[in-house]
Amino acid sequence: MRVVDVRAVHPDAPQAPQDWRSWLGQILVAVHTDQGLTGYGVGGGGAAGVHVVRTVLREALLGEDALDIERLWARMYDETLPFGQKGLAIMAISGVDLALWDLCGKQQGKPVAELLGGSADQPIPTYTTVHRFDDMDTWQERYSGGVKLHVEGLDAVSRPDHLVDVVRRARSAIGPDMPLMVDAFMSWDTVSTLSIAQRICQYDLTWLEEPLPSDDLQGYAMLTRQCPIPIAGGEHEFTAAAFEYLMQHRAHDVLQPDVCWCGGLTQLVKIYEMAQRYGLRVCPHRGAEVWALHAIAALDPQPMAESGRPWMTWVQGQPSIEDGVVRLRSAPGFGVAFDDTLW
Ligand SMILES: [Mg+2]
Repeated sequence: MRVVDVRAVHPDAPQAPQDWRSWLGQILVAVHTDQGLTGYGVGGGGAAGVHVVRTVLREALLGEDALDIERLWARMYDETLPFGQKGLAIMAISGVDLALWDLCGKQQGKPVAELLGGSADQPIPTYTTVHRFDDMDTWQERYSGGVKLHVEGLDAVSRPDHLVDVVRRARSAIGPDMPLMVDAFMSWDTVSTLSIAQRICQYDLTWLEEPLPSDDLQGYAMLTRQCPIPIAGGEHEFTAAAFEYLMQHRAHDVLQPDVCWCGGLTQLVKIYEMAQRYGLRVCPHRGAEVWALHAIAALDPQPMAESGRPWMTWVQGQPSIEDGVVRLRSAPGFGVAFDDTLW
């Protein structure tokens, strides 16, 4: 099955936050083949990502066997290496890689989860990331899977008492059994993290996410040794090779690759394999979107899927979260569709 065209577009997402997630937001990639099948994937990088796909990646794939994904990934990486290795170029590759996996599933008539040795049938527990803390009365009903408090805006380094109070109220609102996490989005330092963690660990947190800047690996390694709460991170890291470095240095207890950014499913599968060897947990960023959900269904011994991006309404057929769980559809590939008018 030969590649005859590779296309990319940056669809409008009017409700996306007015930051890089709009300007360099998610792109749609289509890989067309000589058998009439088309695979779709979502990557990142906005107009810059689209340019990389339409030029370098398209050129690298034309005429190639679409099912030889591992070799094509290596080729795309080599071709973008002078300006890539991390960031936008890998986000663009992610979209193409996912489109190739979609093709593979469609060609075999199987959901991607089955290609990975799993099943699309099982219900997968979810959690919801929340940014507002003034409506906790309804949380137990609304978020029956679990809750992650995104606390970047709370200025916890100078006002730790307020943060401690939010975590205490959240635990009280959702009851003792539901998973509760805190995401500091790189806004703390090691001293404040240890100090805050000592105060909030009594609320039984599943993890503390990205307390430090993503490149402070020494700080992270220190935290995984000393912090009383498991440390999560990795949504801002790219490629399995870089994740292996994180694992070797035990920078995190829970790795959170984003499959639409980190290099696609080809890299996420390797990250799962490595994490098993290192005895670490993987919990993909935005795992409830189909792109990571198939991998979670097939590969994750402790599945838990994070709520996705509500503004990505141009992806049709995303499974919805109901009663705290999400279920894949059994359609071939990733099981989602796209309107022709997007192109
Ligand atoms: Mg996060």
